[in-house]
Amino acid sequence: VLLNPPPALEDLPSSSCDLGAVVVAGQSDRTVSVRNGAIVEIREARPGDDRRFAGCVVVPGLIDSHQHLPPASPLKLTGLFCLLNLLHGVTTVLEAGDGDGMAVAAARRLVLAGELPGPRVVAVGPFVARPPRQWLNTVLVEDPVDHGAVVQAAVDRGAQMIKLYEGLTRADIRGVVAAAAERGLRAIGHVPAALDVEEAGVPEVQHFFGVPTGHSRGDAPGLLQRLADWHAVDEARLDVVVEASVGQGISHTPTLVVSEGVLRSREQDPRAPLLPRMFPDVVWDPKRGINTYRDAAPRDLALLRESLPVKQELVRRLHAAGVELFLGTDVPQPFVVPGESLQREMRLFTDAGVPAADVMEIATAAAGRRLGVPGLGTIAQGAPADLLVLERDPAEDLDALGGLRAVIAGGRLFERATLQDAVERQLRHYRRPLIDRAGVIGARRAMDAVLTRD
Ligand SMILES: [Zn+2]
Repeated sequence: VLLNPPPALEDLPSSSCDLGAVVVAGQSDRTVSVRNGAIVEIREARPGDDRRFAGCVVVPGLIDSHQHLPPASPLKLTGLFCLLNLLHGVTTVLEAGDGDGMAVAAARRLVLAGELPGPRVVAVGPFVARPPRQWLNTVLVEDPVDHGAVVQAAVDRGAQMIKLYEGLTRADIRGVVAAAAERGLRAIGHVPAALDVEEAGVPEVQHFFGVPTGHSRGDAPGLLQRLADWHAVDEARLDVVVEASVGQGISHTPTLVVSEGVLRSREQDPRAPLLPRMFPDVVWDPKRGINTYRDAAPRDLALLRESLPVKQELVRRLHAAGVELFLGTDVPQPFVVPGESLQREMRLFTDAGVPAADVMEIATAAAGRRLGVPGLGTIAQGAPADLLVLERDPAEDLDALGGLRAVIAGGRLFERATLQDAVERQLRHYRRPLIDRAGVIGARRAMDAVLTRD
């Protein structure tokens, strides 16, 4: 009980509100009415409307298309992660792999029970992989394979999408993707180490795995090498990847912010993150942290640094070719923090040459279309009321995200200052000497015991 964080908020606001005389989709003086978590009407403003945010711009909440919620632990970090998402405008998270099988339930329970302000969570549930089991919560694919049974097992554990993971063969992937499609489920995943992106058949590719060919990956590449070693990705290879993505309808969630975060963790004085000390001092520590990145060779880090502009060039080309892209962070990789890192990923896209308006579309409507919640990521009658209130329109310049005034999540309106205070209260709790030490010791044990997630 001593370890329990304080309640995120004393009282949650109701799931109904009105945003009067605001700007919606370029039209000013509109009023958005929200009842029981849904948008019920968008109409011309009237004199009696709630004008707290008059003149502000209202856009759909942001969607992080690849995040991992914190596993069950005595520290109960779920509340802090949820608050950090909201504080940065992230109102939906695609949970891309629940390693212990308890992270999603913990978040949903709290949010649905109205105990916690938090993002909507759509979950892939377990990993689907060939042995060896890297995560406790894995559906193992073993011969003879019954693809329908594999998908059923994942659904039984809460999968709303299927997460293809390591070791799968082309036939495995083809079979599982088809069995998932029969049930109306999409599949996302890693291109396994042995395959190139254009031959794997993964419909929604994470981390740009498989872009470097087998030739450059070597025999037994670790995850860091697969992330970092892009030395052989030249113009011709980029063309092949773009062409295959167009031809096969492959979409990509590049999670560029991971490359940036791993490099930041090697800096002399990385900027203090919005998470407890156990993250920079243990989980992300270059020597004793997540084992994917632990004791990285200087050559791999140099390659990683060189890979980032090439990855950004690929983002630019894919977008120009009309390939579907998604914005995901892969929280909690090194210096990848809930909420903040999605905004950073959006920047990496605009820096790559994707216009801000397109980045906003990718972060909202495009991401929402595939998550099985009608209207998610749009402002329309009947759509979920997940909205941001801003001083300016981020579609013109992402700097506008800094002028966030309020976040509406599931119809509940939180002013930014309220979320800021709630985050600070949580951080004060985790900085108390006893909690701080318990966190560091617990994280050290976990790092020794658990494989990485990526
Ligand atoms: Zn991941």
